Amino acid sequence: MSDTKEYHREFKTDKDFDKGYFKNIERKSNIWQCIQCGSCTASCESGRWTALKTRMIIRKVVLGDLSVLSDPDIWLCTTCYQCYERCPRDVRPTDVIMELRNYATKLGNISPNHRAVVGYLTNYGHAVPINDEIRQRRVELGLDELPPTAFKFKQEGDDKDLKKFEEHLFDLPPVKESKEEKKKEEEK
Ligand code: SF4
Ligand code: SF4
Repeated sequence: MSDTKEYHREFKTDKDFDKGYFKNIERKSNIWQCIQCGSCTASCESGRWTALKTRMIIRKVVLGDLSVLSDPDIWLCTTCYQCYERCPRDVRPTDVIMELRNYATKLGNISPNHRAVVGYLTNYGHAVPINDEIRQRRVELGLDELPPTAFKFKQEGDDKDLKKFEEHLFDLPPVKESKEEKKKEEEK
């Protein structure tokens, strides 16, 4: 961990505590239905290799233990949704973890690696910057060397890059129907 000091901030006073915390978690999950069966931990691929114990995370939330917001383990979840699928009480642990991450981030407790990804998205429009190998593969596949993202427009020296990115992202052309599909549609 490169930034340990910054990574362990917590609510300084009761006044800082967001009263919506439990309500927001409740809205996205069935957290109070947890019976601590441990199926989530047993299903967790990440937990096999790391310290992540999903059941413990849920338990901490239920007990109101706010140290969970500075627990580095919440960043070890890969959001694979195995626990979500297998929980017998439909608790939706993945969504709980994502909400915890939102709160942790507000407190400055985002993990350094996730912070780096946010930086890539902001600067380049990609979670993974495009390197020479990816450029070459795109050309081989008959695509533009660069996709229409902030990264491309930055390369072109366009200072309105984010505006262009937004236009391309939300103004996608409609999917073209094949002749057969069109014919079938007309015959209905
Ligand atoms: Fe709780 Fe569901 Fe995990 Fe069981 S699988 S411990 S009920 S969250
Ligand atoms: Fe583990 Fe996260 Fe996958 Fe749940 S969603 S099984 S906590 S890695």
